[in-house]
Amino acid sequence: MHCRLAIPLLLSIWCSLYAASPCRADAEKLQIDAGFPGGNIVVDKLDGDNVHLHQDLRDTAGDWFYWYFRVRGAQGRTLTFHFTKGNPLGVRGPAVSLDEGKTWKWLGAPAVRGSSFHFAFPADAREVRFCVAFPYQERNLKDFLARFEKNLHLKVETLCKTAKGREVELLRLGRLDGQAKQRVALTCRHHSCEMMASYVLEGLIEAVLADTDDGKWLREHVEFFIVPLVDKDGVEDGDQGKNRKPYDHNRDYAGDSIYASVKAIRERLPQWADGKLRFAMDMHCPANRGNGHETIYFVGGPNEAIWKEVGKFSKLLETTQQGSLVYSSKNNLPFGQGWNTQATYGNRKAFSRWAAELPGVRFASTLEVAYANADGKVVTDESARTLGRDLVRALRKYLAEE
Ligand SMILES: [Zn+2]
Repeated sequence: MHCRLAIPLLLSIWCSLYAASPCRADAEKLQIDAGFPGGNIVVDKLDGDNVHLHQDLRDTAGDWFYWYFRVRGAQGRTLTFHFTKGNPLGVRGPAVSLDEGKTWKWLGAPAVRGSSFHFAFPADAREVRFCVAFPYQERNLKDFLARFEKNLHLKVETLCKTAKGREVELLRLGRLDGQAKQRVALTCRHHSCEMMASYVLEGLIEAVLADTDDGKWLREHVEFFIVPLVDKDGVEDGDQGKNRKPYDHNRDYAGDSIYASVKAIRERLPQWADGKLRFAMDMHCPANRGNGHETIYFVGGPNEAIWKEVGKFSKLLETTQQGSLVYSSKNNLPFGQGWNTQATYGNRKAFSRWAAELPGVRFASTLEVAYANADGKVVTDESARTLGRDLVRALRKYLAEE
């Protein structure tokens, strides 16, 4: 006991006698790591106040931009982080969290120079996390669902277990006595890195459970089948997920599925739908910057009747929206345009195209939600939730037409 106390005591006396700052740096070593759910980084080298690092692509075909790391022991220092493999920074710079990933803010473009950004660590910040956007892990989902534990209109079930033994959640929402005449399927994180879509889904679920006319109507007439984290292993392991080899979860809807969650969706959803599925939406985020990616839009499939319905729903969303993110139907991407061609899918099939073939479906599409900038509006957890609420407003109108 005496010994353990004596060393820090001597050290602190030495510190007060000599320069304070080298001591402080020695006291807590700079540590950069990704050893937590969703973490992803490779540190190339530390060079004074410069950190060289890059995103871990793992089994990704080609390049992608997901990364998420924490820094400890940098109190009071200003560090510059240099990405060494391409530029994975979005248009509002990195997202930063001072509370171990609980809350996030965009650091902003002024902190960015090319593929580098700098950050002045507050004197008391023992741990700071940085990410390409606002992470959404299993923990976030569990915290969110805990708020509705006693709600009779939301049931948490298990869809399946992943290859790594994790449970994939299946949420049933709305009218749960089997009598709902209209059914809605929602999926999210077929591409594990596309985290901002998860906040839209939270807003949507909240709105269905809210004490509003729309909420009440939907809880009386509609049952939802929701898989919030389709690539659960990718989300928790911090994979890119997008363009995973040999193909990713959203290309696994043809032939025999290789991913347990996709296989389970293909088995259970049609059975549950029982011919009453009217609306199927798969929620994604596009690339994190650039033309056509800084917006919110629906992606079309080859079925023209379905695309017409997507147009109809788009107009309803456009005319009823109240949230801080503004959706515009002119940004929708029809099949055959931009990246949305047969060549993108090859002989594979995405969820939305598979769902479009289920009996009775009117609307089947992919929603793309920009990571950081949606036509000039800031995408955050909060603003993304407002889009979820807007989707519910439009959905009620759309389904009530029937
Ligand atoms: Zn995607």
